[in-house]
Amino acid sequence: MTNRDRLTVLVAAYNEADNLPLLQPRIAAVLDALAADHRVDGQVLYVDDGSSDATWEVMRALAAADPRIALLRLSRNFGKELALTAGLDRIDEGAALILDADAQDPPELIPQFVAKWREGYDDVHGTRLEREGEGWLKRSTAHAFYRVIGRLSKTPIPADTGDFRLLSPRSLQGLRQLRERHRFMKGLFGWVGYNRVSIAYHRDPRMAGHSKFNFWKLWNLALEGITSFSTAPLRLATYLGLLTALVAFLYGVLIIVKALAWGDPVAGWPSMMAVILFLGGVQLIALGLIGEYLGRLYEESKQRPLYLIDVWQPAQVSRMPDEARADVVRDITGRTGS
Ligand code: UDP
Ligand code: MG
Repeated sequence: MTNRDRLTVLVAAYNEADNLPLLQPRIAAVLDALAADHRVDGQVLYVDDGSSDATWEVMRALAAADPRIALLRLSRNFGKELALTAGLDRIDEGAALILDADAQDPPELIPQFVAKWREGYDDVHGTRLEREGEGWLKRSTAHAFYRVIGRLSKTPIPADTGDFRLLSPRSLQGLRQLRERHRFMKGLFGWVGYNRVSIAYHRDPRMAGHSKFNFWKLWNLALEGITSFSTAPLRLATYLGLLTALVAFLYGVLIIVKALAWGDPVAGWPSMMAVILFLGGVQLIALGLIGEYLGRLYEESKQRPLYLIDVWQPAQVSRMPDEARADVVRDITGRTGS
């Protein structure tokens, strides 16, 4: 059984007890087909990102029924980016494919991703054609965000591309070397580079439950993305300063000319107030911007671990010798594995 590739489907889940039982059969069906048609041994790695509902119990039950399922439970809720990082750190063989637990990224597309991987691509990412079940406001702000970050960042970050992607073993290796605390995954994937290709797809609505990302969280994610991958906002302060200085100089000349021509009656309280308030505002904005970067620098400097693991349960098949694994896969799929 040589010449078979390994693929681990990685799913980070936070309070997704209702979705996982719906998602797993769909993934399993795809893995069966991959094993039979593409010579790929598939596994699933579920990461429980400190859920407070029955997600962990559901995961345990799913894993008991399918030896291809590995489980990871974090010590608390660390957020999607860190949950994904924890999962990717555990994939030490083959490629990884990242999927949302709510099946907004349809698992049925996985064979297309694998086909691109087989063609030699390292980073196959899904680009959303449309977002169903998401409001006008979320769509337009997301659209604006990808345009802004595309402009500001020197790292290529493809627009309308989420975490739905396949990473080849060497991409995974590359990603693993980035240990920064403030993890804007879309940017980190872009930083890694190698051969990249996108697959256009329709993003489905959530199966059950509601989105974990409200506007405040999305705003913070956007800030994270911009500060992690661009220092342009810091430069903004410089340009604002230059601009104000120029305007102030011209205004000064105007005042002198006026005083020389028409004398100097005491006046100018409104213009003085306007200038003072404007400058005060600009200075506070600049300070705030510096603060954003300084705060992140402070957190990086603490060198804490990125996450802590509560339970790690490898997939049963990964502990078997190759022939035994092939037998299991053949049993599960009910077809011949090669
Ligand atoms: N998620 C996570 N930790 C969190 C929040 C979300 O692991 O703190 C997972 C969530 O379970 C889902 C994925 O990240 O699998 C995307 O979340 P969601 O569907 O809420 O985001 P949206 O699709 O609305 O952007
Ligand atoms: Mg979702």
